[in-house]
Amino acid sequence: MSSDCIFCKIARGEIPSKKVYEDEDILAFHDINPIAPVHFMIIPKRHLANLYDADMNHQALLGKLLGKAGELARSQGLADGFRTIINTGRIGHQEVYHLHIHILGGPEPLGSMLKRK
Ligand code: AMP
Ligand code: ZN
Repeated sequence: MSSDCIFCKIARGEIPSKKVYEDEDILAFHDINPIAPVHFMIIPKRHLANLYDADMNHQALLGKLLGKAGELARSQGLADGFRTIINTGRIGHQEVYHLHIHILGGPEPLGSMLKRK
């Protein structure tokens, strides 16, 4: 737990969120500032900053976060596919330092992953 982490606060119910799914370990909720018609995030309830800080002790949790992605995407109507993004650190343009998996989709293809320079 991290007292001033915004996603910890969401996980504790101190900040409201538009929930997609919740169990004892993980929470999924819609992004407040979506960049695709469907844009939600899956997070662990326990604070973990990012993949850089994760190790094999987090194996089961990381498996659960990804293992739920398909089911939750289906629940949001993403039958034709979706994009999964995990931003890490400054280079990865991570804004919220609590691990989260973005799930993005919509009726139209999302375009290429990164713009080529
Ligand atoms: P990242 O750049 O991967 O750290 O993305 C952080 C994401 O969290 C952004 O897409 C924000 O729109 C989203 N976000 C920030 N605050 C909230 C909030 N209170 N509820 C839902 N999503 C949020
Ligand atoms: Zn946190």
